[in-house]
Amino acid sequence: AVPLVVAKSTALSAKHGLLIKNRTAFENSRKISTIVFDKTGTLTVGKFEVSKIVALQSGLTENEIIRLAAALEQKSEHPIATGILKKAKDTAIPIPVTDNFNAITGKGVEATVEGKKVLVVSPGYLTENNITLPERFTANATETVVFVLVNNELAGYIALSDEIRPESADAIKTLADNKIKSILLTGDNAKVAKSVSETLGMDSFMAEVLPHQKLEKIKELQSKGEFVAMTGDGVNDAPALAQANVGIAVGSGSDIAAETAGIILVNSNPKDVVSLILFGKATYRKMI
Ligand code: ADP
Ligand code: MG
Repeated sequence: AVPLVVAKSTALSAKHGLLIKNRTAFENSRKISTIVFDKTGTLTVGKFEVSKIVALQSGLTENEIIRLAAALEQKSEHPIATGILKKAKDTAIPIPVTDNFNAITGKGVEATVEGKKVLVVSPGYLTENNITLPERFTANATETVVFVLVNNELAGYIALSDEIRPESADAIKTLADNKIKSILLTGDNAKVAKSVSETLGMDSFMAEVLPHQKLEKIKELQSKGEFVAMTGDGVNDAPALAQANVGIAVGSGSDIAAETAGIILVNSNPKDVVSLILFGKATYRKMI
């Protein structure tokens, strides 16, 4: 006979966009007291659109900034890369080839383009390398910004915007109603993190988080007695997903995240996390 839990969890999967790989993860879901959410693609749609391109050197055009950035992003699978490439294609700019491509974990990408060393990086990278932010720099609180450096000089920046998913606010509210705290953990800048976290009424946020810091944050919460679930999509998220009491991989993400997690969120929808917890609670209440 099929155990009740398996039957339940299979039905749940079909109906709610959840793939339960590991029965313990399902059993544990009812005990979750804190959920750590990644931002891009779970709480937000995950489709970045370029909203502004600024050249910061005389003689450089906006098209040149996007052309150089797109050259690097051809080799990246980050949602930021997809947004920049779309802009380059829409503008019909021929994209040059690159050499020596390297992804700088949690910070950006670098490569050689036409003999020049080009970087596309986060605001945090500039701060760490003592590069002062340009005076002409402005961005909305909801915009993700990446800077373009050419031969170690700041050449320009690109602002991109993503949208909060329509289901996110409700999901966070239902969690709060069930006394479950929600925390936002993102590699994106603090302004964006604060804006998303406040818009959704989350308990707290951490921005410009590097992969090892995600793992540390999960451990810290656990040491305070929290029973922690985490959602993540990246290769980088795997250690934190493994550490969490319930690891939830986002469907559109990497295979490594999916292998590590006990549960897969097929449609990347935060509402389905709520279903998981409520069903978990209901299932075990009936059984005991
Ligand atoms: P998250 O998964 O929360 O978006 P990441 O670690 O993937 O965090 O990225 C953190 C930051 O690093 C991004 O907000 C961006 O500033 C920079 N970054 C990462 N990958 C790229 C890329 N391919 N192109 C430009 N910037 C990038
Ligand atoms: Mg990521």
